[in-house]
Amino acid sequence: MIIDELITVGEQLYRRGLQTPRSGNLSARTDRSFFITRTGTNMGLLTRAQFVQVCIDENIPVPPEASVETSVHRGVYNRTEARAVVHAHPPYAIALAQVSGEEGITPIHNEGLAGLRWIPVIGTSVAGEDTGEDVASIAAQLQRSPALVIRGHGAFTIGGSPDEALYRMFLLEEVCKINAIVKSIG
Ligand SMILES: [Zn+2]
Repeated sequence: MIIDELITVGEQLYRRGLQTPRSGNLSARTDRSFFITRTGTNMGLLTRAQFVQVCIDENIPVPPEASVETSVHRGVYNRTEARAVVHAHPPYAIALAQVSGEEGITPIHNEGLAGLRWIPVIGTSVAGEDTGEDVASIAAQLQRSPALVIRGHGAFTIGGSPDEALYRMFLLEEVCKINAIVKSIG
């Protein structure tokens, strides 16, 4: 079941240090709806009861118990081919985005280049708040690249499955870690 795949993704993100006990959200699409984590859930300790089913139709109100980023996930499903969306707070990606300009982040190792040719960076629309980001700007970037960093906040990745979106989040952080090391050693 798709929810079980999302539970595994949550555990892996948490174990890898890409989430705090209160950050992040995950979803996967099933036809005309998607399952997303409830607001305030610990990604490392997810259960089936912590997922909410949301209609893909943007005219239908988002259930209040769903993640604060539910509108972003829904916007992405309506504007891209994504079947899964991962949102995390990867430390190296957040750090590197702070010193990256409008040109975004370009991987420098082969796996990074093969998997993520280029990673756009945009500013947060909700500075200092833990509320939902602007849907349109995130969806527009995810039409160009399957991974995106939001300066001062975190990252979004998409994929054809929860596992692919997870891989891209790991790869994004790996790319940013390597780039940050290279910057620090000159
Ligand atoms: Zn976040």
